Amino acid sequence: MTKRALITGILGQDGSYLAELLLKKNMTVLGTTAPGEQPRSPRWLDSDVIPELMEADLADADAMREVVSGFDPDEVYHLAAQSSVAASFEDPLATFDITGSGALRVLEAVRTQAPTARVMLACSAEMFGQAEETPQTENTLICPVNPYAVAKTAAYHGARVYREAMGVAVSCAILYNHESPRRGDGFVTRKIARGAAQIARGKASELLLGNLQAQRDWGAAQDYVRAMWLMLQRPKPDDFIIATGQARSVGDFCDAAFNHVGLHWQDHVRVSEEFFRPTDPALMCGNSSKAREMLGWQPEISFEQMVAAMVDAELALLDGPSQK
Ligand code: NDP
Repeated sequence: MTKRALITGILGQDGSYLAELLLKKNMTVLGTTAPGEQPRSPRWLDSDVIPELMEADLADADAMREVVSGFDPDEVYHLAAQSSVAASFEDPLATFDITGSGALRVLEAVRTQAPTARVMLACSAEMFGQAEETPQTENTLICPVNPYAVAKTAAYHGARVYREAMGVAVSCAILYNHESPRRGDGFVTRKIARGAAQIARGKASELLLGNLQAQRDWGAAQDYVRAMWLMLQRPKPDDFIIATGQARSVGDFCDAAFNHVGLHWQDHVRVSEEFFRPTDPALMCGNSSKAREMLGWQPEISFEQMVAAMVDAELALLDGPSQK
């Protein structure tokens, strides 16, 4: 019998890549979308087979219960969230409700409606915040420094309780930053890719950014969704850091993006206080040895390839189909 996978947040960056992966594995896929949400971009699903979509607000426990009981999934990938750190400073309560409590609503729906389903919960390296050590492991002390990270921490601890005390087979992916041409608007990497493309095409002359020294461990979304799938193929639920193990600065990201279009980023990027975060996590760099050993996972797309793909996608958008 074909396996059934429920993906929450299927129209997001990871949801779209994961849907493509699971459809290729001949799974039956149902994806939930935020209320009123439409596919945001024709790029989001390249597959010939479009999965079934269903609207379900994470704020609505009854809606989550109905989706889970109606579909009866074997695997649940919980990706939906208010996923922006910047937006979490603007509305911390809504972020907690969607990103924190929303995860518990999904887990509760699984516990009551599909208790044998395996669940993958998307957690975040932001939970480590002012990390005491670098690189971080699954045992590093959690110390969030922004409202998004607080919400993800609640979801993570909630998942452990559902696993250890309430019998739900939930695994947590502690995801470091991962990007792609489908990254949401408003994220700094998308802004850099778009800025480099616009400047290369003469449509802009400068790019305003915040802290260029901020360091992140950036991977490619396509690699990270593969790790999510691998996690649910194990008989026992567990938590895994998913990271490349290489920290790079925002300046390094600019360097790769502008290099790709034959420009020097220093000629075009200006720093603006407006884009500094009130608090920035310490050096974010993950040790993914456990995932590499136990899942046989490793990243396949390099940092440079990932950045180039993002810039190329922005160039293609600017050039439009008629100029190809
Ligand atoms: P996206 O923001 O691209 O996707 C999240 C999805 O959740 C969006 O489609 C969004 O809809 C949906 N959503 C938002 N609010 C609700 C709601 N109230 N009810 C139902 N759905 C809702 O995130 P990514 O794909 O990048 O990330 C996937 C997961 O991984 C997220 O949980 C994120 O926090 C986590 N993560 C991501 C990292 C990254 O670097 N990408 C790093 C660490 C963790 P809409 O677009 O309409 O808002």
